[in-house]
Amino acid sequence: MRADTLSPCIDQKPDLAELREMVIGLRHYLEEERNLGLEGWPRVSPPSGAEPLPAPVMAPSVAPADLPAVRAELGDCRRCKLHPHRTQIVFGTGNPQAKLVFIGEAPGRDEDLQGEPFVGQAGQLLNKIIQAIQLRREEVYIANIIKCRPPQNRNPKPDEIAACEPFLLKQLQVIRPRIICALGSFAAQTLLKTEEKISSLRGNFHEYQGILLMPTYHPAFLLRNPGRKRDVWEDMKKIKKEYDRL
Ligand code: URA
Repeated sequence: MRADTLSPCIDQKPDLAELREMVIGLRHYLEEERNLGLEGWPRVSPPSGAEPLPAPVMAPSVAPADLPAVRAELGDCRRCKLHPHRTQIVFGTGNPQAKLVFIGEAPGRDEDLQGEPFVGQAGQLLNKIIQAIQLRREEVYIANIIKCRPPQNRNPKPDEIAACEPFLLKQLQVIRPRIICALGSFAAQTLLKTEEKISSLRGNFHEYQGILLMPTYHPAFLLRNPGRKRDVWEDMKKIKKEYDRL
């Protein structure tokens, strides 16, 4: 079929060199996706009111060797539109063999500047929460759903999550924690693929890829709503009880 029979608007022959370049580019992109362990594409923009993004499908055969390998694979990431806004990637920090991992939403201003998650005011409160269950920050691992600061600290967008979450999954594949504490509604809803409110999710363990997951309120929310600290303390006691049984 001739190109000019496809559409009356196309009155020029397709530029074959350009087409070839596009196909090569697409092939490289698909190869990179496969190397990341993605066997299918998550839906990036669910229609409003529809089910949230499915979990990225990770091929077990591509489990990375260690966290530096995951970091190296991430490289100078430009997989989503956040990269021009960041000072640096905030990969995650802590014990690579942690039994307990805390997962927040996204780096804020302090984290973007220092390259470490939860180092601002909310981070100071998180440190106190960790100490309250007789653990030290260095004993646990702390990361976020996405690794680059969104402009004006807006919520991460579905395509940004789709690009970044596979790396968090790889970190979790390496660390193999027994318990995850999801900090705030965004982290909890993203990991559990639900739109249920944090107020009803918190307080009970959920199952996440074979790991116990406790959603609780975000420390930044606690700074604004100190009355909710009691709930977080209840959640942390449940985490500690499980932790001590490990
Ligand atoms: N809030 C988050 O969700 N993550 C951080 O790293 C800092 C603040």
